[in-house]
Amino acid sequence: MIKEADVVIVGSGAAGLYCALNIPDHYKIIVITKKQPEDSDSFLAQGGISVLRDNDDYDAYFEDTLKAGRYKNNKDSVEILIRSSRSVIEDLVRLGVNFDQDGSDFSYTREGAHSVNRILHHKDVTGKEITEKLLEQVRHKSNITIVPFVTMIDILEKNHTCTGVVLKDQANTISTISARAVVWATGGIGGLFEHSTNMNHITGDAIAIAVKHNVKLIDMNYVQIHPTTLFSKGEGRSFLISEAVRGEGAILLNKDGQRFVDELLPRDVVSAAIYEQMKKDGTDYVYLSMQHMTGEKIRERFPNIYEKCLEEGYHLETDLLPVTPAQHYFMGGVQINEDGKTSMKNLFAVGETSCNGVHGANRLASNSLLEALVFSKRAAFMIGEGLKSGALENGAEIIDYTQYKNTEALEKEYHLLVWNEISKGSVEYAGLCKHEG
Ligand SMILES: Cc1cc2nc3c(=O)[nH]c(=O)nc-3n(C[C@H](O)[C@H](O)[C@H](O)COP(=O)(O)OP(=O)(O)OC[C@H]3O[C@@H](n4cnc5c(N)ncnc54)[C@H](O)[C@@H]3O)c2cc1C
Repeated sequence: MIKEADVVIVGSGAAGLYCALNIPDHYKIIVITKKQPEDSDSFLAQGGISVLRDNDDYDAYFEDTLKAGRYKNNKDSVEILIRSSRSVIEDLVRLGVNFDQDGSDFSYTREGAHSVNRILHHKDVTGKEITEKLLEQVRHKSNITIVPFVTMIDILEKNHTCTGVVLKDQANTISTISARAVVWATGGIGGLFEHSTNMNHITGDAIAIAVKHNVKLIDMNYVQIHPTTLFSKGEGRSFLISEAVRGEGAILLNKDGQRFVDELLPRDVVSAAIYEQMKKDGTDYVYLSMQHMTGEKIRERFPNIYEKCLEEGYHLETDLLPVTPAQHYFMGGVQINEDGKTSMKNLFAVGETSCNGVHGANRLASNSLLEALVFSKRAAFMIGEGLKSGALENGAEIIDYTQYKNTEALEKEYHLLVWNEISKGSVEYAGLCKHEG
């Protein structure tokens, strides 16, 4: 294991990879990740990535983001997000990302709480397309090393300055990497929930480590529940039925085949209406109908969802699909400014792990991939500047590894630390948690 780097980035989702690509080439960067590099929630994103189509849409996009966020958003962050969106998309296209086209222009779709079509997509596998292309670029860079199957279990800290990370590999061997800057890009907290669309290993580890080291957190009770995941009695990740499906006209029905909600309202409103309806009907799900679309259109626009549902025995053009809400996204997290800086010196956070208030209390659909990219690029710029000026110094010390001997107990302790933080606010989703506490 390499023991020293200029920058250690923890996480290989869109935020971590794009951050790595935007730090100047002459710095040595190590990206560590818990599983395979492809095992991230970024890879799973279906619906798309939102963008400012033209300046005339600025006010409407701003208002849609604030309205979905219950006006709890940080307006400066929202402005940066929207104003930077086109240049990030241009950058992605330059890096080889393909978005679906409509003639000579992009094909724009719509999801809940967007007042116009402004979402770019690659069929229903947008996250895979973006993440694969970012990974390809990262693998070409000689200054970036990706180390898979390694878990950050702590940071090195000296006088409230972060000086590196403590790691565990698959054989439970503990090691450290000292670095001049550490970036947390560890994603959300879905792995802590009984029903979540997130990958199981995404368990908010950075949040627990933040609690341990007094790194500031914010908006910890802002957890988003997605209204429509495929109902299944089996265990494992809940399969998401993208909001874009409702954007293309799919409707929600109760057990008597009647509509009960406007399907394009913000996620929290639709989820609440579904919970209410399930309670009234005494069911564990409601139905989603795509019967107005032809099989050909569904297969062409949503091939991944079509295949998965077929595997589960549902023909989308003829069958009603049982759907139920599940944990999906975490708006709160490690408090950062607009350049990814946390409250600890030399420690940065980007993507879903972090929070600069851009999403407010409820994220607008397809704003998260954009947020991960826009703000990780800004963090990369700050890190580059800090490294150049010498402001980011390396000062790691030798530590006692025996404190990490019982890694299983440590993992449990971390899960509880995170759960305690998120359950301090009001929690209608409490019953969804895997853990007592
Ligand atoms: C099913 C699904 C569909 C979605 N659809 C959309 C969409 O259409 N549009 C949109 O904008 N957003 C969508 N989202 C949300 C979006 O994908 C995520 O919010 C975003 O990709 C998060 O990116 P990230 O880089 O912050 O984290 P992630 O992509 O989750 O990456 C986290 C990384 O951190 C690593 N990691 C975690 N803990 C540790 C640790 N302790 N040590 C080492 N590595 C660690 C993980 O292995 C992973 O590599 C969707 C999410 C899901 C789950």
